[in-house]
Amino acid sequence: MIEIQNVRKSFGPLEVLKGIDLTVQRGEVLTVIGGSGSGKSTLLTCINGLEPIHSGKILVDGTEVHAKSTNLNKLRQKIGIVFQQWNAFPHLTVLENVTLSPRKVLGMGKAEAEVIAEKQLKHVGLGDKLSTYPSRLSGGQQQRMAIARALAMSPDYMLFDEVTSALDPQLVGEVLETLKMLAEEGMTMICVTHEMTFARDVSDRVAYFHQGIMAEIGAPDQLFGDPQHPETRRFLASVR
Ligand code: ADP
Ligand code: MG
Repeated sequence: MIEIQNVRKSFGPLEVLKGIDLTVQRGEVLTVIGGSGSGKSTLLTCINGLEPIHSGKILVDGTEVHAKSTNLNKLRQKIGIVFQQWNAFPHLTVLENVTLSPRKVLGMGKAEAEVIAEKQLKHVGLGDKLSTYPSRLSGGQQQRMAIARALAMSPDYMLFDEVTSALDPQLVGEVLETLKMLAEEGMTMICVTHEMTFARDVSDRVAYFHQGIMAEIGAPDQLFGDPQHPETRRFLASVR
């Protein structure tokens, strides 16, 4: 599980996480919503150790992410992260792009890495695109390739940061379907998203972030149906 204990994080004088406490259990799907600049992306980059924190603790399966003794490269193999956009290597095929990390990071041989990459590409519906170059994929297909790339490392946790925000509206659905499939398979996921219908339908819990604070967290029915915090109400009214 992921345990976030009183985490504070600043960029210079700006405190962007102001004491976050949150536990995500194995198999749970947590959606994080909130206005721009509320600290959602920063939280994800702190969880996988891309960003340092100033105080508090983040534990992943009991390992303290920011402890000096922690092997971050090893820990990161457990935590896949997918961003709004991922720039695939344009001169490599889809299959080659997805085999890169298993080969370079895990030291897998080409054949073994290709078996895994092909399996994950099929899983996200790109089984017919193995030898295609990334520039020939639609935005939705590129995001699914990015998801396959993360899955090829066999992560225990997946973090998604607004993976549909850069897509044309007609391509959003296919990527959300992929996330939903992973959720149904039992993947532990934290999804930062503006897709409220997705949050409502797929999450076990939804957290609302406001100016570096987790103002509210609850089951989707509760958070969307009966928000307790005035800022949550204001935000939900603005996105509806
Ligand atoms: P969100 O994802 O909720 O939109 P972010 O976590 O990206 O918010 O950002 C939270 C705040 O931290 C914002 O005010 C943003 O400008 C600031 N911030 C984010 N990353 C950096 C950085 N690398 N350096 C300085 N400020 C940053
Ligand atoms: Mg963000």
